[in-house]
Amino acid sequence: MSQPEPDEKTIERMRKFVDSYCAKSGTTTHPGPGVTDAVIKGLAHHKDTLGKPLCPCRFYPDKEAEVKHRTWICACDDMQIYKYCHCLLFTNAEGLPITEYLPEDHEGRQIYGLVEDPTPDKGRPLRDKADERERERRERPS
Ligand code: SF4
Repeated sequence: MSQPEPDEKTIERMRKFVDSYCAKSGTTTHPGPGVTDAVIKGLAHHKDTLGKPLCPCRFYPDKEAEVKHRTWICACDDMQIYKYCHCLLFTNAEGLPITEYLPEDHEGRQIYGLVEDPTPDKGRPLRDKADERERERRERPS
């Protein structure tokens, strides 16, 4: 059974959020057709149903509990710490996620290799929280 369509107003809000977060973080949306729309719809669906734009590209055993952790509320910790978006919502101009700041054993480095940040002067407002994030990644793999 397919999930109900998100509210148009929520989709529009998420679109505006994505545009402004791209500008703020020095990233762009994916150049491929449909990628951005699909992720925005997923975020809007979670905003409508959970009250928060939980990342739509992961599996959660308990979505309500996950919202309380906040790790994967967009823009998630990986984005704010490492500028890495595994949904490919925030990418470089070629549609690749930035992996430069990720720990070497992170899935993003293993999948994409080293992708340098074209705008190192922008984004990563929580860069000082990398140690905490790595602790969480070990203790609560998510
Ligand atoms: S990976 Fe992070 S930044 Fe990318 S869509 Fe999911 S929550 Fe947002």
